[in-house]
Amino acid sequence: MKIIIRRQKKLILIYLLTIFLPSVMLCIFGIIAMRNEKFRIERQFREKQSQTARLFKSEINAKFDALANNLRHSVNTPVFINQDKIGIINLVENQIGKDNLYGQYLIKYTDKQPFFPPFRAGILPDTLNAILDYTAFQKSKQEMADRYEFLQNDYPGAISVLKGLLNSTIDKNQQGQILNRIARNLVKQNRFNEAAACYLEIISLNPENTSSSTNLLKISALLQYSECLLKTGQKEAALEESLKAFEEVIANSCYLDENQLSAYASMAREKFRSICKENPDLIGSDNTYTVDFENLDSLYRNTIKKWEIIGNLKGQCIPELSSEFIQINGFSDRVVRYTKKIGNEYYLLLSMLIPDETGTRPTGFAAIKINNGFLEDSLAKPLLDNYLETGDMSIALSDLNGRIIAGNPVGKTAGITSLFDGNFPPWRMEISGRSAIPLFTGLYKSFYFWTFLVMITILIFGILIIGRTIAHEKEMLKLKSDFVSSVSHEFKTPITSIRALTERLIEGSVKDPDRIKEYYSVIYQDAENLSRLVWNILDFAKNEEGKKQYFFDETDLTGWIEQIAREFFSKAPRRKYNFTYDTGISPILVKIDRDAMKLAVANLLDNAVKFSQGDSEVRVFLEKKGDNILLKIKDAGIGIAKREHSKIFEKFYRSENASRQSATGTGLGLTIVKQIVEDHGGEVLVESEPGKGSTFTVSIPVNRT
Ligand code: ADP
Repeated sequence: MKIIIRRQKKLILIYLLTIFLPSVMLCIFGIIAMRNEKFRIERQFREKQSQTARLFKSEINAKFDALANNLRHSVNTPVFINQDKIGIINLVENQIGKDNLYGQYLIKYTDKQPFFPPFRAGILPDTLNAILDYTAFQKSKQEMADRYEFLQNDYPGAISVLKGLLNSTIDKNQQGQILNRIARNLVKQNRFNEAAACYLEIISLNPENTSSSTNLLKISALLQYSECLLKTGQKEAALEESLKAFEEVIANSCYLDENQLSAYASMAREKFRSICKENPDLIGSDNTYTVDFENLDSLYRNTIKKWEIIGNLKGQCIPELSSEFIQINGFSDRVVRYTKKIGNEYYLLLSMLIPDETGTRPTGFAAIKINNGFLEDSLAKPLLDNYLETGDMSIALSDLNGRIIAGNPVGKTAGITSLFDGNFPPWRMEISGRSAIPLFTGLYKSFYFWTFLVMITILIFGILIIGRTIAHEKEMLKLKSDFVSSVSHEFKTPITSIRALTERLIEGSVKDPDRIKEYYSVIYQDAENLSRLVWNILDFAKNEEGKKQYFFDETDLTGWIEQIAREFFSKAPRRKYNFTYDTGISPILVKIDRDAMKLAVANLLDNAVKFSQGDSEVRVFLEKKGDNILLKIKDAGIGIAKREHSKIFEKFYRSENASRQSATGTGLGLTIVKQIVEDHGGEVLVESEPGKGSTFTVSIPVNRT
C-alpha cells in the first residue's frame, strides 16, 4: 500500500489540491449558504405571515374606526348634548342603526337611568294618560256605560251610550278605547260578527301618535278579532289573525318593555297553537302557517335575546364603564374599546363620553355594542377567505375560548400567533405554512444547492477513481512481482538444463550416440524456449512502447501452419502428444508477419501442451469461414473457468488453476497472441470449461488491405 501511495503521490497530491480541497471547501460553503438560505426563506415566510396578520387586523380595525367616528359624530350632535331622547332614538335608527356591525346602542346620562335605543319603553311619556284625559262630559258618559255594563248587565244600554260617546270623539286613540269597550259588550252578548267588525275598526284606526298603549290596543284587538272569527266558525281566518297579532308584537317590540313583550307574545303564540291543536286540518301539507309561525318565533327569540343583552349591559358593563369614565378629568373624546366576557360571549363595546353644551364637561357616556354574529360571519370570515386563497399558508382565527371563528386549525407546524390590541376583538390569529414545500422549492432554486450537489458528485467520482487506481496499481504490483519471479524461473530452468547437459557432453562422459542426440535435442528445445521467452518479452516491451513493427508477406497459410506445428511438436520429444492436423481447404495466400504470427501460434501450442495431461491430444484445425481463416487449437487439458475467459488476455494474468498446476509461464503469452492477431485485423476467441479442455480460435481476414 505504501508503495502504491508513493508511486501515485503526484496523482493523489493533484487530486487533493485541485479537486478534493476546493470541493470540500465549496461543500462547506454550500452547506453554510444553504442553511442561511433556509433561514432567509423561513424569515421571509415569517415576515409574510406577520404582514398578513397586520393587514387582517388593520382591515378589521378600520371597520371599528368607522363605527367609532360615527359614535364621535353622534355624541356631538345637539340631540345628545340636550339629552333629547326621542331625537337620539331617531338619530340612532336613521344613522348608526344602518351599520350592520352595530349590535346595540346604550346611553347613560349621569344620575339617570340608562336607555337603549331603539327600545323606547320607559322613555316616552305614556300617552295612555292622555287618552284617559277625557272631558267631564266624556267621563260621565263612560261612567254611565260602566254602570250599564257591570251593575245592570245591560249590554245594549252600555253600547248605545258608548256609541253616542264615539260619535262625539275625534281623537283616534280615544276612539280606539271606546270601540274596544263596545266590542267587549258585544262579545258579552255573543254578537261576535258585530264585535269582529268593531275590532277591525280599531285595527285600521292608525292614530298619528303611537305609544306603547296604542300598540297594545291594536295587538289585543287583533287577538280579540281572531277569537270572534273562531266563534263564528271562520277558523282559518282566525289562525291568520293570530299570526298577524304575533307579527304586530314583534314589529312593535321597541315600543314595549320586556314584560309587555313576553305577555303579548305568549298570548299570540298560545292562540295560534290552540287553534292549530283543535283544528289540525288547517295545517295543510304545505305547512305555510307553521313555517310563518316558526319564522316569527325566531324573530321573537332574537328580541328576547336583545333584552337579555340589555340586562347584561345594565348589570355588568355600565357600572364598569361608569367607573372607568369617572377617572377622566374633564371631557375626553377618546373612544374606549371595552371587552367583557359574560357567560361564553364576549361583549365588545365602543364607548365615549357625551359632552355638555360647553364641550368641556361630560354629561354621561354612549356606547355601541358590536354585533358579534355580523363581525365574525360577514366580516372576518370572507376577509380571511381572501387571504387563504393565496394558498401557501394556513390561518386559524379563534376567540380566546378556543372556538374557531374562521379558517382551519393550523396543526403543529411553526408559525406566528397574533392578538388584537387590547384583545379587541378577543381573537387569536394563528398562521403557519401549509407545508414545507415552499422551503424546498426555494432550495431547489438556490444556486448553492446545485453547487453543493455538483461538488459532492465530483468528490464521490474522485474518490472512486482514486480507489480504482489504487486497486489496479495494487494488482499490477502483484502481477509484476509474480512476473519477475516467473520470468527468472523460466530463464533458470532451461539455462540449468543446458549447462548440465553441455557439461556432460564436454566431459565426454556420454558415449552412446542416441543419447548424445537426445541431449542435443533437449538443449535445442531449451534454447528454443529461451528464445521464445526473450521474443515474448521483447515483443511485449515493444508493444507497450508502441514501437512494434510488422512486415507482412504473402504466405500460404495451410502449408505454413502445418510446418510450424510439425516443427513445434517434433522438438517436444520429452512428452508425447497426438497431433492431428486437418484442413479441408485448398492452399490459400494470406498477408501475415510470419515472425509475429509464428510467435503467436507457438504461444498457443505451448499453452495447449503446458495445460494438458501427459498423453492427451492436441488438435490443430484450419478452416475458412466467410472471408476469414480460422485457426483452431484444441486441447483436452485443465480448461478455464468462464469468469476468467476475458481476464486471461490481460497482461501478466495467470489463472489460479494454472499456478496450482505449477505450470510455468509469465502471463504474457495470450496478451501477445491477442495483440498480434488484432494487428492482423483479426480476433482471438476462447471456448473452455474447467476439466473439459480449451479451444482457442484465431480468426484472420483473408483479404486484408
Ligand atoms: P502463461 O501461459 O505464461 O501463464 P498466458 O498469457 O499464455 O500466460 O496464459 C494466461 C493464462 O491462461 C494461463 O496462466 C492459464 O491459466 C490460461 N490458459 C491459457 N491457455 C490455456 C489452455 N490451453 N488451457 C488452460 N488454461 C490456459
